[in-house]
Amino acid sequence: MTALSEIFVPLHRIIPFSNVEGQGNRSSIFLQGCKLNCLYCHNPETIPRYTENAKLVSLQYLYEQVMEAVPFIRGVTISGGEPTIHHKKLVPLFEALRSQGLTCYLDSSGFFEFDRIRSLIDVTDKFLFDLKGEGAGLQTLCFDRQNQTGIVPQQVIPERLHIKNDKLERNLQNLAALLPLNKVEEVRLVFLKHFFDAEHLVGKVALLLRNYPDVALKIIRVHSKGARDETGLSTHIPSAEETNALAAYARQCGINKVLTIL
Ligand code: SF4
Repeated sequence: MTALSEIFVPLHRIIPFSNVEGQGNRSSIFLQGCKLNCLYCHNPETIPRYTENAKLVSLQYLYEQVMEAVPFIRGVTISGGEPTIHHKKLVPLFEALRSQGLTCYLDSSGFFEFDRIRSLIDVTDKFLFDLKGEGAGLQTLCFDRQNQTGIVPQQVIPERLHIKNDKLERNLQNLAALLPLNKVEEVRLVFLKHFFDAEHLVGKVALLLRNYPDVALKIIRVHSKGARDETGLSTHIPSAEETNALAAYARQCGINKVLTIL
C-alpha cells in the first residue's frame, strides 16, 4: 500500500472550520481541477487542472491539517473544482480519516462515471449533490469548455431545453444510484433562468426523493459575484419571489425538506 506521504493532489485551499459544507463543523478542502465550466462558477480559478496557483500537497499533509482541527470538527468535506476527478487518490485519505472517527463528504456536480469511482463512493459517508440542471441548455451553461472567458450568452434557444441526451442526464442517473446507498445528504440546485426548465427538473427530483424524506433539496438563487461575466449573468438571475415559488412547487411535488438560499 502506498503511504499517504507519497500521494499528491493539487490543493486550491483549505478552510479549517466550515458549517455550510454538510452536517456539523467540518474542514473543507478545495482541490484543483474540474471538467465542467459553469458560467456562474464562483471559483473559476479552480477549473484548470494544472495551474501555478495550486500547490501539490501530499495526502499526509491534508491528513495532518484535518487532524489539527480535531476535536472541533465532525469530519471533512472535499470540494473543488470537482473532487471525483481525484477519485483514486482520495480513497486512502478517506480510509485514514474514517479510521479516526471522522465522516468524509464529497461536494460533487454528479457528473462522474459511477462504476469508475465506485471505490471512492464506498468510503464516502455523504454527497452534497450539486445538481446543475438538465437538458440541452446545460451544454452552454456547464459543458462548453471552449468558452474560457465565461461569457454568458443572452439568447438560449428554448426549444432545445428538453432534447434528450444521455451525457447531460448522467447526474440524475447517479443521484438515483446513490440514494438507495444512503449516500446523499442534500441535493443542491443553483437556480437561474433560461438555461433549463427548473420546475420540470424539480418534478424529476421529487420522484427520486419520494422514498428519502431526510434528503434535503436546497435551492440556491444564483448570484453573479465572482463569476467571470457578472453583467451577462445578471439577466438570468431569478427574483426572490421566483425562487420561493420554485421552493413551494418542490413542496407541492412532495419533497419533504426544501431550503432556499436567497
Ligand atoms: S462544477 Fe461548475 S461550479 Fe463547480 S467548480 Fe466546476 S465549473 Fe465551478
